[in-house]
Amino acid sequence: MRTACLSVFIVALYLYISTNAFAKAGVNIHLNKTSDEWLIAYSANTPTQKIAFLSTPIEARTTRWRPVNTAFEVVFEDHQELIRRKDGLAFDYVQLSLTPTYTHLPKAYAPFAPFSDGGALIHTGRLFACLDFCSDDANGWKITVEVEENSHFIANGKINYQAASWLGYNDGQYVYIGEQMPIDEPAFMALIDTELPHVIKVELNHTLPKLMAFFESKLGQHNNDVKPMLFTSYLNAPGTDIQGGVLPNQVFIHWDMDNLDERLQSKNFIPTTLWMFAHEAAHFFQDSKSLVINKSASWLHEGNAEWLAALALREFYPETIEPFIENKMNEAKKGCAKALVSYPLIDAAKHGQYRAYYQCGMFIHSLMDLKARELSQGKYSIFHVWNNFKQQSLRTGTNGAEGFWSAAEPYIPSDMLKKLKRLTTDKITSPASYIEQLESL
Ligand SMILES: [Zn+2]
Repeated sequence: MRTACLSVFIVALYLYISTNAFAKAGVNIHLNKTSDEWLIAYSANTPTQKIAFLSTPIEARTTRWRPVNTAFEVVFEDHQELIRRKDGLAFDYVQLSLTPTYTHLPKAYAPFAPFSDGGALIHTGRLFACLDFCSDDANGWKITVEVEENSHFIANGKINYQAASWLGYNDGQYVYIGEQMPIDEPAFMALIDTELPHVIKVELNHTLPKLMAFFESKLGQHNNDVKPMLFTSYLNAPGTDIQGGVLPNQVFIHWDMDNLDERLQSKNFIPTTLWMFAHEAAHFFQDSKSLVINKSASWLHEGNAEWLAALALREFYPETIEPFIENKMNEAKKGCAKALVSYPLIDAAKHGQYRAYYQCGMFIHSLMDLKARELSQGKYSIFHVWNNFKQQSLRTGTNGAEGFWSAAEPYIPSDMLKKLKRLTTDKITSPASYIEQLESL
């Protein structure tokens, strides 16, 4: 499964509203879903000889995007896909018909995640394009979405029945277009494919709302301008692909396979799926975009989200989940120790080793949770540490690891804090035994 935690790092840019967005990209995007077609139109503010896409992971558009007017073509040239007229003349408008099926793109989210009932998520980042070429600072595309009467679309945390426009930034978002109504609560929205096998559909319907309520009760209301959206889509089609991931205010998983029933036989399939949602749901309530500025401190929010996922699942499945959590923890300790043999945790980002932040971070937060509970005879937990971190940041502006350690002081003995801190900053000679020592404190 491919997952990514992009939201934390790009929200700052996402909020940046550029008044000259159109001038930079030079094209407006109009998506129109009719009863039998997905049509995309680009209109330019000035005639151009080509419209080039922001991102070209592979040349899939050349076969999947068909110009409505056959005078146009989609071609792959100099590692880039572009639209042009066959006769080379300039143009200021072009319309194409899309192929709304799931396709795997390397290092990019799928353009479409179809639902069983004919609806689909479409990734707006896939639509971003520019006059001639996209410069490095190209950002802010005006997108208009229009659907037919009996369907609706979900974008920016809202259900829309009429056409709507907005500016899309960075990696864009998934927009649902179809007829299925989501679970629509004040704090979140969730859309769960109706044709999923009963056992997992029931779990998702039951657990996703409980996850959001659980974290809200522990960490307070989320601070996002846009309502968080959770999507699970499924297509029973030949294949074995799973795509899971996040975009700002969105968590999604798509199963594109004809053996989901078989996969469900594995005892870890449902806990793994719920864990992913629990981890991402925890992020919605952390306020980490103001607390963790530096990637080298990702063990803070990633490790915290990992351990909060464990706590949420322990709350909902007290009888059955312990072996799964224990296994995750053992893997985390092993993975953390292995990574720290080569470099200190603080340098993992430089090596592109983000997994170490999840694994070492999960260990750190679990140990702090245990200690806080022990010392307070169950009164305090890691949630109190995190809430103190948030409040302290609002009061004093301190953030990052330094802010976190200081927020933890009232709950954790200082010798343990010192040793945990060392685990995040120092080159440790024997990380496995260091982790063992920490556990025995
Ligand atoms: Zn995460």
